[in-house]
Order: sequence, then C-alpha cells, then structure tokens
Amino acid sequence: MCAFDHRSFAGHEAVTFAHDPATGLHAIIAIHSTALGPAAGGCRMSSYPSADAAIDDVLRLSRGMTYKNAIADLPLGGGKSVIIGDPASDKKPALLEAFARAVDGLGGCYYAAEDMGIGLADVQAMARVTRYVAGRHTGSAASGDPSPVTARGVFLGLRLAVLRKLGRDSLDGVRVAVQGLGNVGLNLCRKLRAAGATLAVTDVRASAINFAVTELGAEPVAPDAIIDSDVDVFAPCAGGAVLTPETIARLKAPIVAGAANNQLLDDDCGEQLRQRDILYMPDYVINGGGIINVAAEIAGRYDPSWVEHKLQRLMATLNAIVTDADRTGLPTNILADRMAERRIASAEQCRAA
Ligand code: NAD
Repeated sequence: MCAFDHRSFAGHEAVTFAHDPATGLHAIIAIHSTALGPAAGGCRMSSYPSADAAIDDVLRLSRGMTYKNAIADLPLGGGKSVIIGDPASDKKPALLEAFARAVDGLGGCYYAAEDMGIGLADVQAMARVTRYVAGRHTGSAASGDPSPVTARGVFLGLRLAVLRKLGRDSLDGVRVAVQGLGNVGLNLCRKLRAAGATLAVTDVRASAINFAVTELGAEPVAPDAIIDSDVDVFAPCAGGAVLTPETIARLKAPIVAGAANNQLLDDDCGEQLRQRDILYMPDYVINGGGIINVAAEIAGRYDPSWVEHKLQRLMATLNAIVTDADRTGLPTNILADRMAERRIASAEQCRAA
C-alpha cells in the first residue's frame, strides 16, 4: 500500500527524479517555489525505508526552505534534494558527480548545499561538475561550513528568548539542555559556556557526551531523559519532530530554542507549547544563519559583514514574532508562517504583474 499522500505535490513547482544506473544514483530534487529567486536548500543522503518516505521528506523539507529563505529576507526560493542510500557505504565520488549533473541539468533553478549525510568534501566534489552548489571551502566566494553561523544565530536567538521570557539580560547561570552535539550543537555549547551558562547535554554518541563533559563541564544526560531536564532552555539540535503532545507535556523548560529543523511534530504542537506558557523560538527562523551564509556565496561574493547584517535582521524578525505573540496570544510558529507567507505572496504578485 502506498502511504504517501500525493496531494503533497500541490504547491511544488517541480519535482525531478534522477536515476543513474552506472553509479546506482537514486535522487529526488524538489523545487517548491522560485517566487523569491532560484530555489536553494541542502542535499540530504539517507537510506530511506521506501521511495515514498524519501518523497515525503524532500517535499516537506523543500517547502520549509521556501519559508526559511523568505523569513530571512533572502533572494532565494525553496528547494531541497535527497539521495537515497547509506552515506557510510553508498557514497562514492561517481555517485556524487552523477547527482551534480542532475542539479546542473536544472540550469540554476536549484542550488544544492550540505545537509545530513552530505559534508563539505561532498559539496566540493559536486562543485567540480556544477556551479549550482554552495558551501564550498575553496574557490571565489566560497562560504565554507555553514554550521558556525547557524550556531551563532541560535545563540543570539536563545539569548533573546531568555531576555524576553525570563527578563534576564545575561546567560550567566542560565541552565540549558542541549540535545545533539554535532556540528551545530557543540558549537552552540561552546558559546553558551563562554557566556556563563550551565549545560546538560545528550547525544546518541557516547564519545560526544564525554567530550562535552570533559571540555565544557557539562552534565551528561541519557538521550531519552533530556526532555525532562530541569532547565531554563531546551535546545533541540539533533533530529526533527522532537516536540510532540507527549514530550511537550513532559518539558520543564519555559523556553525552546534550538537548531533542529522541523522540531514540531505538527503545527498544533505550537499551540500546545503556548498553552503551557513555553516560549518556542520557531525553528526555521532561529536556525537561518546557515542559509544566510550559503546565500552570500550564491550571490557571488562572500562578505562576512553582509552575513552578520542579515543575521542581526533575522534576530529583529524573531523579536517581532515574540512581540506579536505577546500581543495576539497566537503561537509563534503560526505568526512566523504568516510573515513568511506575506513575503512570498507579495513576490508572487510582483512576478505576475
Ligand atoms: P550533525 O549531524 O552534525 O549533528 C547531529 C547530532 O545529533 C549528532 O551528534 C548525532 O549523533 C546526534 N543525535 C542524533 N539523534 C539523536 C538523538 N535521538 N538524541 C540525541 N542526539 C542525537 O547535524 P548538525 O549539522 O549539527 O545539525 C543539527 C540539526 O540542525 C539538524 O536538525 C539540522 O537539520 C539542523 N540545521 C543545521 C544547520 C547547519 O548549518 N548545519 C542549519 C540549519 C539547521
């Protein structure tokens, strides 16, 4: 039985299936919207349980990129791609090149970048075949690893949440539980520690926890217990859908501010967080630093001061969303969506005129 709801295609401008028998490439490139500019979003490699699961993922993620790029006020639309396969065993240079040829064939409608399962070296390999890839570490305008900029944005957004919710203008002594100590999570932990926060951390990799305990004096927590931590802030920096009716009921933190994409199981979870008086910093707003960094490269000139300026404006947008939530009593995720939708609609009107 096909579990995939094909109505999800509605709203996507194009979905391309790329198959290369010689290398075993099975990939899907989804372009949700080019209203604001060429679509941009990472390429994810994962061994999906079925083709439907991969389609579902890429469509959901590409739509999310439209919103993320719009709220960051970037001249980019939303797109995403997935390569179906195990990054540990199936990723070969020829396969990445075949994928890059598929991206190239779209003629600049879509720019790929790193995502889960695809690292900087893979992006560099793709860049040998197509210029429609960003996040390179060499070459003119190369922007490199977006993770540090993502972590900086999450840090600034978390600090803003602490000010708005707890009335504290310093992170000194603020307790933060960080779920996921990867590229963004560990970077965030370092910034929090330097600002005087105390850390409770978890990861499915014991080595990552040990490192944070030793280097940052963090308290180790088991992966399935991090949600119950008695802290001021819960910072999800691993997978998506961590905020469900069940986990929201368990949360002790009055603030959720983290890097993970698609943190809410569904939109209703935003309302459930609001009802529990938990301030939720919408994921695609607080984690937009990475795509801002990538956008600088796509623009053809990497300028760190432009990146910082855009990041500060994104934080002002986040602040405005929190103010709107206080004023209207609506959940922050819904207010962020409305703001992004207004920007997209006005770009569509200009395009139609
Ligand atoms: P990463 O793969 O480097 O790190 C993820 C970490 O989470 C790993 O250490 C992994 O072991 C751990 N993990 C996985 N499942 C877990 C679980 N159930 N409990 C605890 N830990 C778990 O990824 P990243 O680049 O740090 O990204 C983290 C999140 O932020 C992802 O959701 C990603 O989509 C999102 N994000 C990343 C960027 C970026 O610039 N890298 C930008 C925007 C959003």
